Amino acid sequence: MKLPKIDKLCARSEFKGLFAPAVTDAAKKVVAALRESGREASEEEVAKLVKNEYFKFENAAPKPVINATGIVVHTNLGRSPISSEIWRKVEPLVSGYSNLEYDLQKGTRGDRYAFVSQLMKMFFGCEDAIVVNNNAAAVFLVLNTLAKGREVVVSRGELVEIGGSFRLPEVMANSGAILREVGATNKTRASDYADAVGENTAMFMKAHKSNYDIVGFSAEVSAGELAKVARDSNLISYYDLGSAYIGTLPFGLSKDEPNLANVIKSGADVISFSGDKLFGGPQCGIIVGRGDLVAKLRKNQLLRMLRVDKITLALLAETIMAYMDKNYALIKGFNQIHAPLEALEKNAQELISNLNSSNLKFEIVRSRTYVGGGTLPNKSYPTVAVAFSGEAQKLERKFRQKGVVGRIEDGRFLLDFRSIFPEHIAPLTKIIEEISNE
Ligand SMILES: *Cc1c(COP(=O)(O)O)cnc(C)c1O
Repeated sequence: MKLPKIDKLCARSEFKGLFAPAVTDAAKKVVAALRESGREASEEEVAKLVKNEYFKFENAAPKPVINATGIVVHTNLGRSPISSEIWRKVEPLVSGYSNLEYDLQKGTRGDRYAFVSQLMKMFFGCEDAIVVNNNAAAVFLVLNTLAKGREVVVSRGELVEIGGSFRLPEVMANSGAILREVGATNKTRASDYADAVGENTAMFMKAHKSNYDIVGFSAEVSAGELAKVARDSNLISYYDLGSAYIGTLPFGLSKDEPNLANVIKSGADVISFSGDKLFGGPQCGIIVGRGDLVAKLRKNQLLRMLRVDKITLALLAETIMAYMDKNYALIKGFNQIHAPLEALEKNAQELISNLNSSNLKFEIVRSRTYVGGGTLPNKSYPTVAVAFSGEAQKLERKFRQKGVVGRIEDGRFLLDFRSIFPEHIAPLTKIIEEISNE
């Protein structure tokens, strides 16, 4: 049976400029599959198959996209972008050595969390704070440290699943804590927690519902109430807050969603949240709380497994300092959520006025969108979009395959400016022209 030689195949002109090791890998796969099936094929044919195989590799390669979905905290698109200015500030710490765990004054070993913990104490007004890889890790560390082998009382209405890979009952089982469900799906009262207390109870836990709402005939116990009942029973209260924001949210989004300072004031002993949801920082899990409890977290061997690297620590420190300096321009997610409609309208106008002889028909429209990322469920807020006439599915695909992810609303393809950065207007103009001229 005749099949082309790998070397000769890979040397063909159409593979010039591609990542050679992946071309070789694709060629080996294709030739092996053909040999297996006993099929003969010309070099031309095989080359085509190799190109298809190579494309699978290239498609999976990380590449920047323009987020035109309107969802600012988009988990599939990388959640919170970091501003170039913050990135430039941390660059020397990443590309060189630093005092990560070294005290330059004393010449002794230092603590990698010392600086960021100090910043968090200053800014959040908490007794102590620590950071791990993500909030899932934070939940795991808190439960494993403070409730291993003991009961944790949780409302049936709050046994959340986040994005398929985080399910509270399963995380709890893996941490070694014992789940004690109380209440009903739609209603849980403070007395339900108190009544569940037994000899082996360690903690009352509250989880933010994050990506769903229970409406109608329903009641839940607030973090403040829960903290009080826990104190009365001499137990620890823990709030998995999911996402946290600073200050106030615009467009009435803060209604029924207290900011981090108020959640801390409400008295939960330990609170954890993601660094890259509403907070707008790098991926991490932030744990704030009572000094004696955070001290126990620090002593758990697990912290070594869940520890964050120098890049995360540096990005988080810069993000917190930007908040403290009220330099909100450095926090991209924050900026987009807070952008007034006039600013979005101006960006949309700029895009449209830059377009030359577009064959596409479009108009600027007002609409509504969501923050996303498992925050503020069912709370929409206003936005501005460019809506295209024509086949929405086809346009959606064409834009997506050029790295622009938009959305379809009422049968029309939309580019939503709530999540489009100003620096993306120029490249977006070019892409629209390309599609228009196809
Ligand atoms: C998002 C979320 C998590 C998981 O946080 P990650 O940072 O994605 O690991 C856990 N609990 C709640 C309530 C959440 O909203």
